[in-house]
Amino acid sequence: MNEKPISHDEIFNQLNKFQAMDCKYSDGRILGSMCTEAHPIAKEAFFKFIDSNLGDPGLFKGTKLLEDKVLKMIGSFLSIENPVGHMVTGGTEANIMAIRSARNLARDNKGIKKGELIVPKSAHFSFKKAADMLDLKLIRVDLDENYRINPKCVEENINENTIAIVGIAGTTELGMIDPIEDLSKMAIQNDIHLHVDAAFGGFSIPFLKDKGYDLPNFDFSLEGVKSITVDPHKMGLSPIPSGGILFRDQSYLDAMSVDSPYLTIKNQSTIVGTRLGASAAATYAVMSYLGKEGYANNAIEAMEKTHFLADNLKNLGYELIVEPKLNIVAFNHPYLETFELAQLLEER
Ligand SMILES: *Cc1c(COP(=O)(O)O)cnc(C)c1O
Repeated sequence: MNEKPISHDEIFNQLNKFQAMDCKYSDGRILGSMCTEAHPIAKEAFFKFIDSNLGDPGLFKGTKLLEDKVLKMIGSFLSIENPVGHMVTGGTEANIMAIRSARNLARDNKGIKKGELIVPKSAHFSFKKAADMLDLKLIRVDLDENYRINPKCVEENINENTIAIVGIAGTTELGMIDPIEDLSKMAIQNDIHLHVDAAFGGFSIPFLKDKGYDLPNFDFSLEGVKSITVDPHKMGLSPIPSGGILFRDQSYLDAMSVDSPYLTIKNQSTIVGTRLGASAAATYAVMSYLGKEGYANNAIEAMEKTHFLADNLKNLGYELIVEPKLNIVAFNHPYLETFELAQLLEER
């Protein structure tokens, strides 16, 4: 590290050089990303709350209210009036929290010592991290011909050690939506936690459904669903890091709360201690600014572009892996290996 201070201008000269090496969303050359440039109003709110610490909400009572409001607003399109949860760093942390809660409840209520977690083969790799950190056996079950979880395979794998089932609403690679309704019935029958990972789809499926798109139900209106991951920093247009974890009631947070003696609150359920309040403020700002109408318009425009891309790829002789359900297009080149195609695209 430098011994003597460096001037503001010199530092920003350096930062500019590094930033110039990054890809920019505005260049239109980022082809595969679940995130995008944050909305200007979200960035403005983010900087305004940059010093706020939600890890100590007694000191930041206003920011805490914003977090509560954001969760309630998200709940309003996921069929739950009073969700309980937190704004977190993203889908990974949200998923780990959901599985941690399920594991603790299974341990405390059913005495399960070495739990098993059932996920579809299409699940995001964050569940591998969760299983490793929480000492769970990860059971990855097969998909059907449309790349959705096969409920029969789930049923076959449920046993007395199953602590949770995961369904995905908007898979990372293909944008598929698992048959959550079937999973919900199974979860109720077997008294098992059903977690829905809607990190990507949470900010588009509900609005597309409202506008008449034929998409399956996946939210808290299904009784077996106990927790949902939704990422404002993906289709929500909030800055990174903005994730959301919603639970059906307080008992799911209580199951993982620990005493927090030196803070203004008595206990804490989040994995992270000190955590930024800026995400809550930014998400509140952009959600209020766009409203349901704004998100619906964005989602529809994205779907129109999706179909344009898919149709024209087909016309050029590419093979779609699957007809898109959300704004993700996956395809094979007529003769190039995927890796080769990716390299050629990167060179350009
Ligand atoms: C992106 C994604 C995640 C992980 O979210 P991060 O914000 O990258 O931690 C989890 N699940 C799904 C379905 C995702 O698309």
